[in-house]
Amino acid sequence: MSNKINRQWLLKERPPGMVQESNFEFREHSIPDPGEGEVLVQNVYLSFDPTFRGQMTDRPNYVPPMQIGDVMRGASAGRIVKSNHSDFQEGELVVGAGGWQDYFIPSSSDLMSISKIPEGVSIPNSLSIFGITGLTAYFGLLDIGRPKEGDTVLVSGAAGAVGSVVGQIAKIKGCKVVGIAGGQEKCDWLIRNANFDVAIDYKNENVFHGIQKYCPDGVNIYFENVGGDILEAALGCLAQRARVVLCGGISSYNSEEVPPGPRSLMSLVRTRSSMEGFLIIDYVEQFHQAVKDMSEWIAEGRLVSQEDIQEGLENAPKTFIRLFTGENRGKQLLKL
Ligand code: NDP
Repeated sequence: MSNKINRQWLLKERPPGMVQESNFEFREHSIPDPGEGEVLVQNVYLSFDPTFRGQMTDRPNYVPPMQIGDVMRGASAGRIVKSNHSDFQEGELVVGAGGWQDYFIPSSSDLMSISKIPEGVSIPNSLSIFGITGLTAYFGLLDIGRPKEGDTVLVSGAAGAVGSVVGQIAKIKGCKVVGIAGGQEKCDWLIRNANFDVAIDYKNENVFHGIQKYCPDGVNIYFENVGGDILEAALGCLAQRARVVLCGGISSYNSEEVPPGPRSLMSLVRTRSSMEGFLIIDYVEQFHQAVKDMSEWIAEGRLVSQEDIQEGLENAPKTFIRLFTGENRGKQLLKL
């Protein structure tokens, strides 16, 4: 083992608004010793996901919130460095819920939820395109959005880990794809590298007018990652029988107050449209099908994964905050 201590980041306080580095506390702890039937995993990459900002706040969510003093939650990829379990060998690479620390022992129930990284899959890919974000894009678009050839698909948070994969899969399914992202550089990347037809820079353009211009026959599928004003603009531009896929709403994750609902909600009535939320954890049994399809699309050069890899556990808080300032370029990872 390279480190003799377990460096950890704890939740020090609940952020009253925008998450800050001062909300976290660093500590050095002893490395835990795995008991009978347990394994010790050394994290090699951490994955950062906006949902963990929600879990820092004491508010109803799909999992209980973190408590002050808890190790910050997060997905990770790591190497088994000690195994007292016959199904796992030392040296094997796994993904799991390792949190912001060097070492962890999955609880015996979590042992079911660490999974081995298949041969041929890179560690960054195991947390991005084949991790929660890539799988979310796949099932959210295909199961909830149900794209048909010729549909116009609008995606917010388009240059991010989920959004960029949504747009690419929609193109593979024969749709016209319009992205919404912050800044010219991200918009250019979407068109040049991720095969989007058009991208709207929400920081410098009027989103409603942009959607009207680029989606003259209306939006058949709106894949929502952001919420707020962008959701309001998109709902005002729906085609008949459109599907609105509610994946997330990052624009409010740092808000104290729950934002007011979109004023354009009644357009769902006029257009006979539906709006449906989903959680990726409900699709675990079908993950293998998504991995198979996406592996083929990657091999054919039709799907790319963009990863933003920062370095050093000491930079975990800074790296997490990048998700909320828009500094991340694709899936936000940290190499330890
Ligand atoms: P991203 O990689 O998209 O990173 C977050 C991006 O959000 C930033 O780069 C930034 O892009 C954008 N953003 C940040 N703040 C704002 C804001 N105030 N207004 C508009 N855009 C903002 O993250 P993920 O791909 O990991 O997650 C995308 C969404 O998917 C999130 O809402 C997340 O909660 C959700 N999700 C849902 C799951 C489910 O099961 N339903 C599972 C996984 C993720 P920009 O520069 O363009 O502003």
